[in-house]
Amino acid sequence: MSDTTKPEGESALPTAPDADAPKKTYKASCHCGAFAYNVTASPPLDDPKAEVIQCNCSICTRNGYLFIYPPNSSVEFTKGAFDEFKSYTFGPKPKVAHYFCGACGASCMLRSIDPNFFVGMTPLNVRMLEDIDLRALKIKHLDGKSYTPS
Ligand SMILES: [Zn+2]
Repeated sequence: MSDTTKPEGESALPTAPDADAPKKTYKASCHCGAFAYNVTASPPLDDPKAEVIQCNCSICTRNGYLFIYPPNSSVEFTKGAFDEFKSYTFGPKPKVAHYFCGACGASCMLRSIDPNFFVGMTPLNVRMLEDIDLRALKIKHLDGKSYTPS
């Protein structure tokens, strides 16, 4: 972990996995199929150590996000491209942008737009992944609602 002091909400977020950790690649897409991408998750989502994050903040609640946090390099587009997503930000100093399909509206992923906030990682909505059992996922709750960005 870094030795800089971070607010509670930020330090609760996971960091990038070790290079030699177990991993699995999943196919993912938005609902209409305009965007398709491969996601490499480490650990694999059915690994006993795997967790997905469910946050209670205003946007996560509405979009139904269930997050993992792969590095950008673990998300590979096979149809469409990242810069073809529509994006959404809110608040006076947004740290991340939310990316969704402009045709079907599926909320696919986030990326940092603040050079001091989780640069290089893609908070990714596992609801877009194929062949996963949502009911079997281990959910970790994040109290984003109580987190006030500085
Ligand atoms: Zn779509």
